[in-house]
Amino acid sequence: MLEIKNLHVKLEDEDKVILKGVNLTVEAGKVHAIMGPNGSGKSTLSYVLSGRGGYVVTDGSATMDGHELLGMEPEERAAAGLFLAFQYPVEIPGVGNMTFLRTALNAQRKARGEDEISAGDFLKLVREKAKALKIDADMMKRPVNVGFSGGEKKRNEILQMAILEPKMCILDETDSGLDVDALKLVSDGVNALRDAGRSFLVITHYQRLLDHITPDVVHIMANGRIVKTGGPELALEVEKNGYADLLDAEAV
Ligand code: ADP
Ligand code: MG
Ligand code: MG
Repeated sequence: MLEIKNLHVKLEDEDKVILKGVNLTVEAGKVHAIMGPNGSGKSTLSYVLSGRGGYVVTDGSATMDGHELLGMEPEERAAAGLFLAFQYPVEIPGVGNMTFLRTALNAQRKARGEDEISAGDFLKLVREKAKALKIDADMMKRPVNVGFSGGEKKRNEILQMAILEPKMCILDETDSGLDVDALKLVSDGVNALRDAGRSFLVITHYQRLLDHITPDVVHIMANGRIVKTGGPELALEVEKNGYADLLDAEAV
């Protein structure tokens, strides 16, 4: 599904190298977690995959189903099936959530050479997905994320995911932490969307999200590289002993 090879990334405005040779393969239907200390480059990896500016790829590749992502425009990446859940979802006053989502879906369909979805069919789709995820469809009538609580923003994100049906979902969760309810919401949403054809990359500083979303594979990132890969037990090891022990052991 997603294959990252020897990815090197530096800042555009400074000679600061952030990613120093990231290698990562996420298979179809799998949930991979990336954990790591603050400043290790986790968010940078998600930004570079989503196509955000400000970063320069100096070496390596990132392909999805064999197609190189790194040269694509952000909307082409979305059309290819990539979805990034932002740590801080942006508020868009004056734009209804419904309009926003329909525009996003139609942009994706257009890039794939498909017809636009009609207003009626879209309404039906939203109601169906919202019901399945136990999300109040009234949220769709409000401007995008404006005045939404933290939990509502997360709910909205999960609904976006359910409607856009991405193949590869990247969630960069906040280090400062979601409250327990928001955490459960995100986890339930992700678990409901787990599917043989869909993969997740869950980026998290803390282990607690992984109590609810059991990953297939856990990677530890430090200083711009994946330094250790293992099963769910690796996340428990981090919770118990912190990163220092683990990273010391790697350095030996
Ligand atoms: P993480 O998500 O693992 O905490 P980040 O990817 O946010 O790590 O950051 C990795 C390193 O790169 C940090 O040292 C951070 O300060 C630096 N960095 C990332 N983006 C920028 C930027 N736009 N300007 C300056 N430094 C940055
Ligand atoms: Mg950070
Ligand atoms: Mg981060």
